[in-house]
Amino acid sequence: MAILIPVARMIPCTEAEGPGKRFALWVQGCPLRCPGCCNPEMLPFEGGTNYTLETLCDQLRSAHKEHNLEGLTLLGGEPTAHAKALATLALFAQNLGLDVLLFSGSTHEELLARKDPDILALLGHTDILVDGPYQKDNPEPQRRFIGSANQRILRLSERTPVDDPRWMESNTLELRLENQAGALSLMVNGFPATQAMGLWKRIPLH
Ligand code: SF4
Repeated sequence: MAILIPVARMIPCTEAEGPGKRFALWVQGCPLRCPGCCNPEMLPFEGGTNYTLETLCDQLRSAHKEHNLEGLTLLGGEPTAHAKALATLALFAQNLGLDVLLFSGSTHEELLARKDPDILALLGHTDILVDGPYQKDNPEPQRRFIGSANQRILRLSERTPVDDPRWMESNTLELRLENQAGALSLMVNGFPATQAMGLWKRIPLH
C-alpha cells in the first residue's frame, strides 16, 4: 500500500525557510497548540492534500534538477507526527546531496525520550533541528527563520557548516501567486513580520 503524507503546502524552491534554496514541505496536523501559532490552518489532522511518498520524491528530484537546491525543509504542522514517511523522504533528500532541516514544536530531548523508532529514524536523517514550542511573548530578536528565542538550532550531523552566517542575516518574506483550483491566490511564506500579518490566511487558534 502506498505511503501517504498529508501536505498542507509545498514550495519547490524557496529562500525563506532555511539557508539557501530549499524545497519546503508543510505537513498537515500538529498535536500542539502554541498560542499565536503562525500556521493555525495546518493544525487539524484532517485536511491538506495526500501525496504518495513516491510523488514527493519525484517532485523533490525534479525541483533539485531545476533549481540546484541546497536542502529540504520540513515544517508544518508537526513533521514528527508523520515521522515514518518523512524519514524516508529525508533519506531520499540526503541521497540527492541535500541537507535536511526539521522544525519541531517538541524539544530534542522530548523527541528522544519518546523512543519512537520512526521519530528516531527521522532525526537520524535530519541535519539541523530547530526545536521547541513557539512562544509568542518571547520573540526571537536576531536569528533568521526562528520564531521565538527559546527555540534552538541543533546541528545533528556534520553535513552543514558550523555557525553558518546565513542564520544571522536579515529575515526574508516571499510573496508569490499560486494557481489554486484555477484561481490565482496570493501566497506568503517566510518571516511573519507584524506589518505583513494581514497577508497571511488566518483562522482562530482554539
Ligand atoms: S508546534 Fe508549530 S505548528 Fe504546532 S502549534 Fe506550535 S507553532 Fe503551531
